[in-house]
Amino acid sequence: MRTVINRSGWNATPPQKPFTVRRRTNGIVLHHSGVRKAQPGPAQIKSFEQYHMRVRGWRGIAYNWLVDADGVVYEGRGRGAVGGATRGWNSQTISICYTGWGSGEVPERALDSIAGLISSIQSQYGNRLWVKGHRDLASTSCPGTTLYHWMQSGMELKQDSSPEIDWVALRNYIDALGRKVALKPLSRRRRSRGQAVRLVQRHLNGLGFECGPVDGVYGRMTVDGVKAYQRSVGLKPDGVVGKHTWSRMFL
Ligand SMILES: [Zn+2]
Repeated sequence: MRTVINRSGWNATPPQKPFTVRRRTNGIVLHHSGVRKAQPGPAQIKSFEQYHMRVRGWRGIAYNWLVDADGVVYEGRGRGAVGGATRGWNSQTISICYTGWGSGEVPERALDSIAGLISSIQSQYGNRLWVKGHRDLASTSCPGTTLYHWMQSGMELKQDSSPEIDWVALRNYIDALGRKVALKPLSRRRRSRGQAVRLVQRHLNGLGFECGPVDGVYGRMTVDGVKAYQRSVGLKPDGVVGKHTWSRMFL
């Protein structure tokens, strides 16, 4: 069984400035932390974040996703944000980091989760993304020889790779909500409430566009978060989630 821990689950620090929203996605880049004696678990994810934010001065942890030696998947900047791990390629790629040392022995559980995560992401993008190692794009040994060769040889899985999250069902669910939103946009004026509002709040909070508590109530903070998001992606900042804003967020 694969466990996915979201940003609040490992106590991520909200970015001081919202993450940049990725406008196109062409590939997936695999990294390792390069730490030889890495301890799996959320404390390590937090320490990477603190290093990236305090020492490097970045807005948050560099990676979109991380996988530890126990095969636990962590949401880094998550699905929609531009990462900071692959210089020159961040605006068009999703980065995944194995939190251990990719040149030694990599546990089967970790490989299984990396492969499962990659196939989940691929299924969201119609299986059209390329998958490369960091060393294909820069002069670095990252993600380490073991991981790199495993990736090159087709990411053979020994265990059942059925994903924890049913991405197809999730997609259908988001599309169904999107059809309702297209007919009846979400706004403060309409006093919108419910699951679609909750989804917007969680998504924008994750990106750093603060909407307040994820309570499913379209209040003033949600309006402000939506406006800031709309400005950052070049949409008219009216604070209303209609068809265009919704599809910009979730497609
Ligand atoms: Zn790397």
